[in-house]
Amino acid sequence: MYEKQKQVALAAVTKAADLCIRVRKDMVNPNALEKKDKSPVTIADFGAQALVCEHLARHFPGDVIVGEEDSSDLQKPSNAPLLVEIIDYVQTSLPDATPDLVCRWIDAGNGVVSDYFWTLDPIDGTKGFLRNAQYAIALALIVGGEVKLGALACPAMPYKMDDPNSPKGVVFVAVRGEGAQMAPLHSDDFVTIRVVDGTNPTQMRFVESVESSHGNQPLQEAIAAKVGFSQSSLKMDSQVKYGALARGDAALYLRLPSPESPGYREKIWDHAAGSLIVEEAGGIVTDMHGNTLDFNSDYKMRQNRGVIVGNRRIHASVLEAVAQIETA
Ligand code: AMP
Ligand code: MG
Repeated sequence: MYEKQKQVALAAVTKAADLCIRVRKDMVNPNALEKKDKSPVTIADFGAQALVCEHLARHFPGDVIVGEEDSSDLQKPSNAPLLVEIIDYVQTSLPDATPDLVCRWIDAGNGVVSDYFWTLDPIDGTKGFLRNAQYAIALALIVGGEVKLGALACPAMPYKMDDPNSPKGVVFVAVRGEGAQMAPLHSDDFVTIRVVDGTNPTQMRFVESVESSHGNQPLQEAIAAKVGFSQSSLKMDSQVKYGALARGDAALYLRLPSPESPGYREKIWDHAAGSLIVEEAGGIVTDMHGNTLDFNSDYKMRQNRGVIVGNRRIHASVLEAVAQIETA
């Protein structure tokens, strides 16, 4: 199923990844985050969305795309220099790109949640991108509220997590019912991946966001310890965490609501692709109360709080630990 969609999605996220890699290489200041210069990530974010939307529209005209970005800010006169830079990068793939066309491609991602739609995060983990750490291009196809296809390009992810000499760049893909695979970026050497069964103690570590404000790290650590995780966590930005879990680099991903932003709701493009990749690798993904993630209502998952990801056994014991803490 969805074979053409899968090939188109893989080509789209790979093109976007190439643009992001080039922008990162060209970054004048490698520590941009400290210097508060966020323009490289803005350029890469818009450029990646333009490329993915153009590619989808070319192969599937009329398909709805719910993307994270839109061009209204970019069209302000003060942002004209940014737009020039974006066009420069986009023209490497699409030589005919003009300001008008690029804004139109970006805004092809202005769709709303419907019965059949794509959702896109052109750069998930913008802070990781600026820190020269992890980020991902995440694209998913959602049909009738169910993620049917997920493609995740992870340009800075080592092919083997704990091998310092491992080449960087991994792409993950999953179609519902057909398993999950990964390959080095730019190759077709896909291998099937599985979540860990939890019997190997070295794999008993958990992943969480680098950003302390995107979760509740003290509670995440306490819960992981309670269910038997004694190693310190692996901290990574973006949906690279889902990929890491799906291929067995870790056994649990915890994302509990931050006390600093109690009203925050998770966005569909931050979870759709990654969640299917984990599910197809044999894992379970729910919110912190065991509810399935709602990809059917809005771009914000209003019915869900937090995310818990692991194999069946670990997931069940984490849910129990969370429930105990909440009733204590
Ligand atoms: P991560 O690198 O896993 O923290 O994921 C990055 C994503 O976190 C971004 O794409 C944001 O959409 C999302 N985010 C922003 N603020 C919050 C928050 N307060 N709680 C949870 N996620 C957030
Ligand atoms: Mg994101």
